[in-house]
Amino acid sequence: MVKQFLLITLGFVGLSVQAQKTADPVPFAKTITEKDLQKHLTIIASEEMGGRDTPSPGLEKAAQYIEQQFKAFGLKPGNKGSFRQPFILEKDSATHLKLEMGEASFRPYVDFAPWISMPQQASLRFSEYVFVGYGIVDENRDDYKDVDVKGKLVVFLNGQPEGFRSNKPRRQSPVFISNKIANAKKKGAAAVLIISEMLPSRQILDMYRPKNEQAVSEENSAIPAFYINDNVLTRKGYTINQIKSLVGNQVIDPMIEEAQVNIEYKSGKVTATVSNVIGIVEGTDKKDEYLFVTAHYDHVGTDEKGNIYYGADDDGSGTVAVMKMAEAFAKAKKAGKGPRRSIAFMLVCGEEKGLWGSEYYSDNPIYPLEKTTANLNIDMIGRIDTERLSADTLNYVYVIGHNKLSTDLQPILEGMNNKYTKLVLDYKFDDPNDPHRIYYRSDHYNFARKGVPILFFYDGMLQADYHKPTDTVDKINFPLLAKRAQLVFYTAWDMANRDELLKRDLKLDQ
Ligand SMILES: [Zn+2]
Repeated sequence: MVKQFLLITLGFVGLSVQAQKTADPVPFAKTITEKDLQKHLTIIASEEMGGRDTPSPGLEKAAQYIEQQFKAFGLKPGNKGSFRQPFILEKDSATHLKLEMGEASFRPYVDFAPWISMPQQASLRFSEYVFVGYGIVDENRDDYKDVDVKGKLVVFLNGQPEGFRSNKPRRQSPVFISNKIANAKKKGAAAVLIISEMLPSRQILDMYRPKNEQAVSEENSAIPAFYINDNVLTRKGYTINQIKSLVGNQVIDPMIEEAQVNIEYKSGKVTATVSNVIGIVEGTDKKDEYLFVTAHYDHVGTDEKGNIYYGADDDGSGTVAVMKMAEAFAKAKKAGKGPRRSIAFMLVCGEEKGLWGSEYYSDNPIYPLEKTTANLNIDMIGRIDTERLSADTLNYVYVIGHNKLSTDLQPILEGMNNKYTKLVLDYKFDDPNDPHRIYYRSDHYNFARKGVPILFFYDGMLQADYHKPTDTVDKINFPLLAKRAQLVFYTAWDMANRDELLKRDLKLDQ
């Protein structure tokens, strides 16, 4: 009894101290106006930006616009004097590609296709190859046992035998293709052929992907590796299914077979630099702690027919909401009412390609993630879900992540919403049975996987104009966009000003 009584008393004291310290956020929230959101969105989702593909000239134009606005608002550059956190993309369209076996010459991308990480060039001839089953090597198993593959051509099956289990995460698993190739290389193999039902398409291979330093050092000493399908195997009188049933789930003895094989490859590497745009409103007494407010400014670009995918809602709406929040906090700071913690406003790119920008940031954080109290991420908050037919249609937002990583998230969010914005907060996407897996589908996930508590704000638009050229500015509900942006602003205000960092007392998967 006493203990509880004491806690209640202390609670009241705490509240009154907090109330005295914290300035009124309302005048600053009110600067997030429909008019300004519309002004910025009309530029971000304009024809000139060409749908903001990663990488593209339109994306760079959008980055320049955001950077220029951040400067005008009086934000500080977020990355050692620069508003940009650049990262490099790379693609390798082979300029020469050849696979021959005896008299047969195979067709690239029809009969065989290169692995994504190839040497600059290769020209190799073999008179035999060594088949090593699935090519798995780990503590319990060595598919290369008793065979020397030094300088040889190694052939193995893609994937894993039925019933094979590894307790390692996917990327470290001995069946993960890059690990299989690395093991072949370690054993001294000169080249690899991977037997696979499906070949990676030329389109996929020709796409940009983030350049990863570790992969680069691996590539410098890479061995050529080609996927081959049944069209190649039938030359030797086999089919994939026959080989699979021959191997079964046993570790078979490696088999050496004679074959005149000729492999040639020449890369045509192209790189591009893109960037996350980061502006800071520096905190006062807790300036070495951070709150991240994010959205992605990229979208899916322009198609072959010249249709522009404007991405006004996805995620122009989040982009302009973050911009206006940045301006509002900068105004508060100028008025002597700035946040106690530093707030980083980060607009990332490459989201549509696979959360590249946020992945790059979270793997190369500029500010310590353990001092980053939370990430508030927005991806689409400008429209009304076509599926939503209930009474609160014009006054809701989906919030995702309220019951993960921190028990502080929900009371802060609901406290600020009850006090200021009074939106209907819909947590339906936090239902573990929800098939959309929204939690894993935007940039907040890269903060969450590193343990940073997140809230994700979203309008539910997966129907209608999602990823279509018709996601345009005229379909945006600006009063609702402004209200939702204000909710994120108030939530940020509380998180940046409260005494403690958010607790990290819940697991991600529960
Ligand atoms: Zn999006």
